[in-house]
Amino acid sequence: MTTYDDNNIFARILRGEIPHESIYENDYVLAFKDIAPLAPVHILVIPKGKYISVVDFGMKASTEESIAFWRAVPEIAAAQNLGEDGFRIIANTGFHGGQEVPHFHVHILGGECLGSILHRD
Ligand code: 5GP
Repeated sequence: MTTYDDNNIFARILRGEIPHESIYENDYVLAFKDIAPLAPVHILVIPKGKYISVVDFGMKASTEESIAFWRAVPEIAAAQNLGEDGFRIIANTGFHGGQEVPHFHVHILGGECLGSILHRD
């Protein structure tokens, strides 16, 4: 997909059309609990700007947006007490990457040992 879909679920969450369990918010970033958690801590971090994927974000985001996003990720992890034991971040990208929602997001997963490799279905 090359055009941002204004009706994707995360766009609707940003517009307040769908409820979410907020974890963190600033001018550029929103983080909320994943609706179907795959670990004791499973948080989605999204930019407020309209970016489809990490590629789109990496190529087009402003310096302010980029810094705000990548600072928020470790801040959120620390606030969730994941700093000491560690955690995993995932940015599924495109069809082969298994990306379901076409608004850039990073998954933060932690709270237990996640193993050394991802499973494939
Ligand atoms: P993706 O596969 O695109 O990387 O991940 C999308 C994630 O969004 C999935 O983990 C899914 O559980 C989560 N998700 C989908 N719809 C909603 C929703 O309405 N609310 C929340 N909080 N998470 C959602």
